[in-house]
Amino acid sequence: MTNFHPDLDLITEYTAGSLPLTQSACVSLHISHCRRCQGIAGQLSDLGASLFEALEPAPVGDAQLNAVLARLDEEVPLSYARTSKDTSNTPAILQRLMRGDFSDLSWKNIGSTLRISYLQAGDPQHELAIYHFNAGGRIPEHTHRGSEMTLILQGGFSDAHGSYHKGDFLVRRQGDVHAPTALQSEDCICLVVLDAPLKFIDWKFRWMNPFLKLRTV
Ligand SMILES: [Zn+2]
Repeated sequence: MTNFHPDLDLITEYTAGSLPLTQSACVSLHISHCRRCQGIAGQLSDLGASLFEALEPAPVGDAQLNAVLARLDEEVPLSYARTSKDTSNTPAILQRLMRGDFSDLSWKNIGSTLRISYLQAGDPQHELAIYHFNAGGRIPEHTHRGSEMTLILQGGFSDAHGSYHKGDFLVRRQGDVHAPTALQSEDCICLVVLDAPLKFIDWKFRWMNPFLKLRTV
C-alpha cells in the first residue's frame, strides 16, 4: 500500500513534460505503479489537451522551425529492450529495477551498510542512483544541500518523520535533516535523484562526504 505520493505540483510538471529527465523517470516509475497518481496525471493531461485545443493557432518563426528540424539529426539515445506487455512511458531499465532485477548493476560500498550503483542517465544537473542498505542498517544523520527524490523499490525504511514502504515516493528539501534506518525485515533498495551531494553531520562520518560527490553521467 503506497502512502506517500508526488505532490500535485510535481505531477503537474511531470505531465507537462517540464521535469528534468532523471526526476521525470523517478515520478514516472511511481505513477506506473500507483492508481491514485495515474488518475491525477490522466486528469491533468486531459485538462492540458483541452486548454491546448482552445488556443488560437500562432505562426511559427523560421528559427523555431529550424530548431525542431535540427533535432532530427541528433544522436539516437540509448534504449533498452521493453517487454511486449509494458505499455507505460517508463524507461525499460527502471521497469526492470522495479521488478527487483538488480543482477547486472555494479555497486560501490559506502561503509558497511550502504552500497550505491550510479545509473547513466545523461542528465548533467542530477545524479540518478540505486541505494541498497542492509536490513536494519542506518545511514548516519545527514542534511541536504539541495533536493532529494526517493522512490522505494524494495523493503522500506523509517526516520524521525515516518515509516516508508515499497512504492512510496519522498522528497527531501535543502536543509532537511534525517537519519534513515532500513526496516529489520529485509534489505531496502531505493531509486534516488539528487541535485546536490548529501552532507553528514557527525564529524565521525565526514570522511564519507567525498564518496558522495554528485555523479552526473
Ligand atoms: Zn502515487
